[in-house]
Amino acid sequence: MFGGIKVGTLAGIPFFVNPSWFFVFAFVVYSLATSQLPLWVPNQAAWVYWPLGAFVALLFFGSLIAHELGHSLASLRYGIPVRAITLHLFGGVAQLGREVSRPSEEFWIAVAGPAVSVALSALFWGGNVLLGGALPTLAGAFGMVAMLNIGVVLFNLVPGFPLDGGRVLRSVVWGLTGNYRRATWIAATAGRLVGLVLIGLGIYLAISQNDLGSLWLALVGWFLVSLAKQSYQQAVVLDTLRKTPVSEAQVRLITVSGALTIDELFAGFISTTGRRFYLIEDADQPVGVVDAYELTRLPRHQWPITPILSLMKPIADIPQVSLSASAMSALDTLEEARTPLVRTVEDGKTIGIVSRTDLVQLMRHAHPSRA
Ligand SMILES: [Zn+2]
Repeated sequence: MFGGIKVGTLAGIPFFVNPSWFFVFAFVVYSLATSQLPLWVPNQAAWVYWPLGAFVALLFFGSLIAHELGHSLASLRYGIPVRAITLHLFGGVAQLGREVSRPSEEFWIAVAGPAVSVALSALFWGGNVLLGGALPTLAGAFGMVAMLNIGVVLFNLVPGFPLDGGRVLRSVVWGLTGNYRRATWIAATAGRLVGLVLIGLGIYLAISQNDLGSLWLALVGWFLVSLAKQSYQQAVVLDTLRKTPVSEAQVRLITVSGALTIDELFAGFISTTGRRFYLIEDADQPVGVVDAYELTRLPRHQWPITPILSLMKPIADIPQVSLSASAMSALDTLEEARTPLVRTVEDGKTIGIVSRTDLVQLMRHAHPSRA
């Protein structure tokens, strides 16, 4: 949902900052310098609160990144790759390379982020206590960071998907009922309710307190509502892919000789079968797959003289899934290998091909209404 500027890598994970984050940073510094810090660290010259605010904001956003790293390292422990960590308008997000496949994975990945925030809060609170006598200003800043981290934990433990608490709720319901789709529906509905409450509260505060800053709450609420809806739709799609055997998503391959020219393939096979992919055999051995769309890229006058063998994709370069696997594992294989095609295999023999397009087609037929 949020792209951004790549800043570097953290534990091997690309780290991005969405341009919207700079506004949030400025807003947080402003709000710290003008309202929170003067209460928390009193009796300072007015200008001191600005660099102090920037310092606290940096430590706070550093803590948010550590929170996302917590989720990320837990994911990696379960073999789930992490595509990116991004800071954006509404906080941070760790984008996982694939969905969790077990309730226990979801539970521990969800809990790992808040656990880091709790640890950081304790650490900064310790700093506050230790430095209180000698460096009261720094101690005050640490105390503020500790409080902000506690705020992150409390907000994230609200049991509405996609907040961490909502993920915990989904994992528990999923674990108890074994029904991923229903568990997601319950957690996402809770997420939507939380979002609606935040919208109402934000608008109410903005009007009653005459504080436009409260509209921020309404904005966060709106973001939650739309994410919850989107997450549920995504869950329905994933559920469909998990329940559909890959044999229903595949297209069976027709075996042809690699000595055929493009013209011969068109005349003898493509025009009659309408198929796009063909398995090429050479000396009775499957050696590769040819894609009719790719062939048409070659200039027309070369079609009668070019053997398809020279344009095939070697079979070893196409990752495979078992014919008995689910469409979901075909998608996982596509994502992990970053290729557009996987082949299905039964008893060591290549049977069919599944393309990204086939899977998208299948996903289009997944309807949230059929929950
Ligand atoms: Zn989190």
